[in-house]
Amino acid sequence: MTKKREIVLKGIPASPGIVTGKAFLFGREQYTITKRNIKDDQIQDEIKRFKDALVQTKNEIVEIKKRISDEMGVEHGQIFSAHLLVIDDSMLIEEVVLKLKKDKLSIEYTFQDVLRKYIKIFSEMDDEYLKERISDINDVGRRILKNIIGVKEDILSNLKEKVIVVAYDLSPSDTATMHKKNVKGFATDIGGRTSHTAIMAKSLEIPAVVGLETLTRKVESGDVVIIDGTHGIVIINPSQKTLKRYEMDREKFAEIGKQLLELKDMPCVTLDGRKIELAANIEVPEDVPSVIAHGANGIGLYRTEYFYMNKKDLPSEEEQYKAYASVAKMVKPYYVVIRTLDLGGDKFLSQFEVPQQMNPFMGWRAIRFCLARPDIFKTQLRAILRASAHGKLKVMYPMISGVEELKQANAILEEVKKELKKSAVPFDENIEVGAMIEVPSAALTSDILAKEVDFFSIGTNDLIQYSLAVDRVNEKIAYLYEPAHPAILRLIKSVIENGHNAGIWVGMCGEMAGDIIMTIILLGLGLDEFSTSPIAIPEIKRIIRSVTISQAKEIAQEAVSLPTGKEVEKFAKKKLKELVPDLAIEVE
Ligand code: PEP
Ligand code: MG
Repeated sequence: MTKKREIVLKGIPASPGIVTGKAFLFGREQYTITKRNIKDDQIQDEIKRFKDALVQTKNEIVEIKKRISDEMGVEHGQIFSAHLLVIDDSMLIEEVVLKLKKDKLSIEYTFQDVLRKYIKIFSEMDDEYLKERISDINDVGRRILKNIIGVKEDILSNLKEKVIVVAYDLSPSDTATMHKKNVKGFATDIGGRTSHTAIMAKSLEIPAVVGLETLTRKVESGDVVIIDGTHGIVIINPSQKTLKRYEMDREKFAEIGKQLLELKDMPCVTLDGRKIELAANIEVPEDVPSVIAHGANGIGLYRTEYFYMNKKDLPSEEEQYKAYASVAKMVKPYYVVIRTLDLGGDKFLSQFEVPQQMNPFMGWRAIRFCLARPDIFKTQLRAILRASAHGKLKVMYPMISGVEELKQANAILEEVKKELKKSAVPFDENIEVGAMIEVPSAALTSDILAKEVDFFSIGTNDLIQYSLAVDRVNEKIAYLYEPAHPAILRLIKSVIENGHNAGIWVGMCGEMAGDIIMTIILLGLGLDEFSTSPIAIPEIKRIIRSVTISQAKEIAQEAVSLPTGKEVEKFAKKKLKELVPDLAIEVE
């Protein structure tokens, strides 16, 4: 037998860690549907098979929804509400029955035919929302088909050995039926860092890489693969040498992870005693245990969009209140910054009739949307304020671009406070209010904005894309997306200075806060708080504990004088290696 060639593919890191195992190629076309003629007297039987399959599928989805809601939180389970909508679509059902009566072909063939037609129509529509529903239709359709032809098992929930799942894409119900014990990791052709698949992988804490483009064309079931979820690399048929190297890396990664966790209870202070707030970003209350396990001092960004996604109805005040209060209680005595709804851009919410926009990142979104829909905004603010009676909550507005918006948002907050007071509902009257600084105009007028709030949190994900005119989700221009660009460093420097001059603290909750290359520079620029994904916290803490403020200041001063991002990065890496030689993540 000829030895298979080693292939290395680079994708998008979705969930960190290294794992080696046998590939299990999970495809969508698992069912062979043959074209079978039926007689008139078989029509009713075929319709019954179809209706039974619909009931069975609905029961399965309800069951998955319940299990996922129990295990991972209501928000994760909500994705299946969209699936239930597909299954209740009477138009689809009627069309299948009509076609069956007309063409007299087996129900599985007829159903597949109608399904394909639906998918084709949806994929040709201009409406992005409807296009996004294709994966729901596909997912449910596959399930119905399975039940019509009576395939008993869900492949992913019945894996007999530990494997690495390789697929073109994994739908929410695929990932939901995966059992952690037999799925060591996964890799997909499509998907981005913020796709549902990536979020699931992080929650399951298994290594994953997405966006590999050609992976399923290069791998066969049974091939040995290495998944390096930290660096977004997949190696098919690794040589003995590569296997050995990755095994060493895996052991090193696990060992360093253990050592880093020992820092959990150590204070986040510089060598010369400056206390720095080290907080975490979360999306759902179920993320909190990991935040605590990694030793964060609080939550610097609670993204609340998950609440509104994949739902038929808007989340109620009560529902939001319960979630915010539970997070406040779990994180107490530390603080939680709740960001108000940041709709738009890449965060599309299913139930809103938001008109299609030429430029969604610059469109009707975030605070602009909330100010136009005070009913939705006030419901959320009421829930946040009520929850503030149970812990240390702070509220923060996204996408502020000028002081008028900030004043309007604050006026609405005051109205809600007044209403609560009038009804004698308890809340923290001194709740801190902050603005995200993620639009260049906000950064440039941060001296004016600082007078209206108690803190700033710099959202570098958007600040970089707007300042450098680089779409944050476009992989073709990813090379231009440079956190170390002099323009970005200058903006950050001025935001921190303006905040401090007005006597307020300045944090950062964009991904840059978790980028170890930038930690010392940000520290030297005077950043008071770093908020990042839980997994990055121990390493950032170690760096902060390894330097003095004066060393960091000197490094920051030199960094801001450099003419290009590349030079800043090279310089920052050199200094980082000098000051913190034993880093967990390799800095080349
Ligand atoms: C940011 O823009 O940096 C940020 C933290 O917000 P989001 O990634 O949710 O847009
Ligand atoms: Mg943002």
